[in-house]
Amino acid sequence: MPDIDADKSHSTRLIFTVLAITAALAALALARPILSALGATCLALALYVGIRDVVAVVFRALTRHRASWHSLLAVAAVTFSTVAISFRCFAQPARLAWSDGLAVALGMLIHLLLDECFSIDLEGARLKRSFGTALKLFDYRRPVATALMAGATLLVMPWMPRWPF
Ligand SMILES: [Zn+2]
Repeated sequence: MPDIDADKSHSTRLIFTVLAITAALAALALARPILSALGATCLALALYVGIRDVVAVVFRALTRHRASWHSLLAVAAVTFSTVAISFRCFAQPARLAWSDGLAVALGMLIHLLLDECFSIDLEGARLKRSFGTALKLFDYRRPVATALMAGATLLVMPWMPRWPF
């Protein structure tokens, strides 16, 4: 997930392809009672191409690698969003929704830790320039992106179930 900000990342392509397929399938299911079969298919195709080829390109242009998405604030934002989506959209029980969120958090934290480990050159006994860019509290160099991410984190909180443990 954090490498969603890497321009040539395989995970970026995978994430936007999964989002595009999900949106297209949702459009087919939801628009079918309203639109004709041809109309619903056209809408699904437009969403697929729009998300995969337009939204992804804009996202790539607006984000920088190892900036806002490589931070503990991003871990919180994605974790809380996962809990809320799992609970509200997929009707999972609170315990399972929180398990989904914690699994995402664990994966992101491992990614950030590994990024930092690869910033240490053990043979040369030195720190690479990338050290400290992955595991940080928030991106202090980009206050607007940080404020937007913090706002999104706060906005999603009312949609989360109570901590079940
Ligand atoms: Zn990374």
